[in-house]
Amino acid sequence: MNTLRDLDDLKGKWVLVRVDFNVPLDDEGNITDDTRIRATLPTLRELIRLGARLVLMSHLGRPNGAPDPKYSLAPVARRLSELMGTQVKLAPAVVGDEVTEMVDDLKPGQILLLENVRFEPGETTNDPQLSASMAALADAYVNDAFGASHRAHASTVGVARRLPHAAGLLLEKEVETILEVTQAPERPMVAILGGSKVSDKIKVIERFLQVADTLLIGGAMAFPFLKAQGHAVGNSLCADEDVALATTLLAHLGAGKLKLPVDLVVGPSFSADAPATVISGVEVPEGQMGLDIGPQTAEEYKGWISEAGTVFWNGPMGAFELPAFAAGTRAVAEAMAAAPGITVVGGGDSAAAVQQFGLADKMNHVSTGGGAALELAEGQRLPGVEALN
Ligand code: ADP
Ligand code: MG
Repeated sequence: MNTLRDLDDLKGKWVLVRVDFNVPLDDEGNITDDTRIRATLPTLRELIRLGARLVLMSHLGRPNGAPDPKYSLAPVARRLSELMGTQVKLAPAVVGDEVTEMVDDLKPGQILLLENVRFEPGETTNDPQLSASMAALADAYVNDAFGASHRAHASTVGVARRLPHAAGLLLEKEVETILEVTQAPERPMVAILGGSKVSDKIKVIERFLQVADTLLIGGAMAFPFLKAQGHAVGNSLCADEDVALATTLLAHLGAGKLKLPVDLVVGPSFSADAPATVISGVEVPEGQMGLDIGPQTAEEYKGWISEAGTVFWNGPMGAFELPAFAAGTRAVAEAMAAAPGITVVGGGDSAAAVQQFGLADKMNHVSTGGGAALELAEGQRLPGVEALN
């Protein structure tokens, strides 16, 4: 992988930087967590120190390949201006005459942020015309968007092929750290998988078990397995296709390395005023949904974590945004913070949980990438990283 040190003299050059500014916004469009913006500041400062003119691009949310004011990067441009202490202008689009003019006007040390790359339909299809137009804006390309590097899009792969390219400091650190802890982990290696993106994650479990010695399952991820074992899941999140996958996995693997909850916290709905009930065992009563792992499960998982050489965690153990269902996620986060082994957190919501509990700096690494961290950890090659070779 090329790094910033492999790029020729950048003095006065236009550098196109793919960043991950996909930050959470509240209903009024205020940024509720700017971690991802702050994480890329070292790369931006270094490029400015080298004398470059910066053209930044990012996605935000999932607009449908067309401009949508709801997903404008305007709040990000304002926040970045504050953080960098210099005005960051926002271009009205990703490419086009007006954008080219604004890019041409940039002085060394100045920053222009292009509008949301997913306003262009060619972004997610990696359209060659779009990546050519992107490449025409600059002399070199830097990818610092680790969280987007598992997707072969125009802004991550297409444009990299067309310009001298390198990894930014954040992407470099993310890749190095995650490969380090998964390719030759201190044993035993414990992986913790939870959250609600079950269909995405359940597919990687089999490969993950080649890396990990023990896999602790929590969150909504548990229910397809529990249902496959014949337990009642009530109204818990549990898709039929995931139950089918879980059934196959259990048949292949047995229950050896895979640990499932032994008790649960249930509630009538995913809402802040839902009363929480601890149940011993894992039969979810009718009309209820499982919203957290139970205290007995949390104790068992804490034991595995405290004896691990390496812990990799992706996906909360329950609906941690609701205080009544946050105990399991908090227990895992606290156990990791206190663990003697190497601890890595990957996953947007897991990282947010760790921040919320004030434990982020007690971990060895908190990744800015969700899906990308998971895919890299279970041994896949990321197209956006491959494109930097
Ligand atoms: P990450 O972003 O860390 O990869 P996911 O996006 O997969 O994690 O899942 C995070 C979401 O999962 C959180 O919003 C949390 O409320 C939800 N969640 C966790 N456990 C459950 C559950 N048992 N039922 C419903 N939602 C859950
Ligand atoms: Mg998430």
